Amino acid sequence: MSGLQFDQIRLPPECETLRAEVRAFLAEEIAAGAFDPHRPGHGDSHNRAFSKRVGAKGWIGMTWPKKYGGRDRSFLERYVVTEEFRVANAPVRLHFVADRQSGPILLKYAPEHVKMDILPRICRGELCFAIGMSEPNSGSDLFAAKTRATRTDGGFLINGTKIWTSSAHIADYMIALFRTSPPTKENRRHGLTQFLVKMKQPGIKVNPIGQITGQFEFNEVVFTDHFIPDDHMLGEIDGAWKQATSELAYERSGPERFLETYYVLTELVRAVGAKPDSRSAEGIGRLVAQLHTMRRMSVSVAGMLQAGKEPVVEAAIVKDIGTVWEQQLPHRVRDLAAFVEEDVGNRETLESQLSFAIKTAPKLTIQGGTTEVLRGIIARGLGLR
Ligand SMILES: Cc1cc2nc3c(=O)[nH]c(=O)nc-3n(C[C@H](O)[C@H](O)[C@H](O)COP(=O)(O)OP(=O)(O)OC[C@H]3O[C@@H](n4cnc5c(N)ncnc54)[C@H](O)[C@@H]3O)c2cc1C
Repeated sequence: MSGLQFDQIRLPPECETLRAEVRAFLAEEIAAGAFDPHRPGHGDSHNRAFSKRVGAKGWIGMTWPKKYGGRDRSFLERYVVTEEFRVANAPVRLHFVADRQSGPILLKYAPEHVKMDILPRICRGELCFAIGMSEPNSGSDLFAAKTRATRTDGGFLINGTKIWTSSAHIADYMIALFRTSPPTKENRRHGLTQFLVKMKQPGIKVNPIGQITGQFEFNEVVFTDHFIPDDHMLGEIDGAWKQATSELAYERSGPERFLETYYVLTELVRAVGAKPDSRSAEGIGRLVAQLHTMRRMSVSVAGMLQAGKEPVVEAAIVKDIGTVWEQQLPHRVRDLAAFVEEDVGNRETLESQLSFAIKTAPKLTIQGGTTEVLRGIIARGLGLR
């Protein structure tokens, strides 16, 4: 059995200085009315003006080289920024995907002139990216994707449909997987290639899909003879299967993977007050202990990424434990809230947050890879299948 490795990593002191700066920035933004930390799901989660202000602080693409607009800072510093923004329910949707995973892919696989053009704009908070992996008949089994990229003069023509594409209605670019060749007998993962797609161009139609929360955050994207130039092909033709797995370590392990419904816990603590009864104290204590453990694991993965490792299995474990936890959290908080005084000051806020969190919860164990699929990856990584 191959071993799991969670390196013992703690956030270094410079991270705490940065944390204070981030908190001060967020407090100013909240005071200026940019967003309301107590009302997640209200207001525009894609906020261009806010993203530009975050970019101006140097907190987008902050681990990337300076020549591309980055700040050469560590993954652990990025961790602190992500964590503080999530805990405050700040509207990061516009820049978050580009910061977390599209930028790192471009850094690795895009031609130099494309990097020089796009990465600085991501860092300034000007660009929104979408991820075009899932298709109507290809979700967990990514390598069954059928949307075709066919050779033409100077590039490729794209035909087919992507689905559940978050932010495609706002996005300036998408990084997508398209089929350039059929799979081979020896390797069914062969034949897919990653491309940089410029959105809002001829041959791309974005159809919104509503969610149970009433929000419209993901879409169907239909490609009809959409042209992509040669220099927007990323990495090796037919070889995307070698590239997609390292992307997933970035996608799966961050604090955003267990903090999506965290606000209900802090609101419950506020409601319970300084003198909780023993049932509330026990319940909250248990939740906080679990959260603390997950955070140590997640920080460890960030540290391993910083050290140049590819902790794919460890990241899958964080995502699995984290998303199951954040999915159950609103239900546990609702149980504990039953013992809170009826007339407590923040009762209405707590109820409204619970209602939103309970509607958000089902998606958490699906997006970014389902629980069952993650457990399959973990089992394979441990040599159990
Ligand atoms: C809110 C949200 C946002 C999303 N955003 C994006 C996005 O921006 N870009 C994008 O490309 N996709 C996105 N997705 C799609 C997401 O990645 C897929 O929904 C997910 O990978 C599952 O695929 P599927 O929906 O086709 O389900 P299926 O793969 O059909 O799975 C159905 C069920 O079968 C189980 N199953 C499937 N295969 C196995 C297996 N091998 N072993 C055990 N059980 C299995 C699954 O766990 C699941 O319970 C998003 C999804 C959600 C909910």
